[in-house]
Amino acid sequence: MSFLKDVAFALKPRCPVCQRGRLFKPWSVSVVDACSVCHAKLGQNDVGDGASVFLIFLLGFLIVPLAWAFELLVAPPLWVHVVLWGAVSLGVIALVLPATKALLILLEYRHRPGDWKKD
Ligand SMILES: [Zn+2]
Repeated sequence: MSFLKDVAFALKPRCPVCQRGRLFKPWSVSVVDACSVCHAKLGQNDVGDGASVFLIFLLGFLIVPLAWAFELLVAPPLWVHVVLWGAVSLGVIALVLPATKALLILLEYRHRPGDWKKD
């Protein structure tokens, strides 16, 4: 798989085994127990909070310098920082967390295929 295919997979998460079944439960980033198409036991290979760690680093390196620059340039009241950066953080999490988690699951499937059983 190429990098672009990996990114496309991450943006539209599917079962890494058959590439057709749903990976997450609806409106959630919880991995389904089994693929509805190939019956691979996806729930056994949930990466847990691994994707959240990447987002913590991303948000830390993104939000803190932006908030600092915004404070130096505009000097808004404290409540503006709370509302603005809270909304930005939640937006980034909502957009990036499912893709990051799907990418980690894909990489785990690719590099540790023996752990994935279709029973
Ligand atoms: Zn499948």
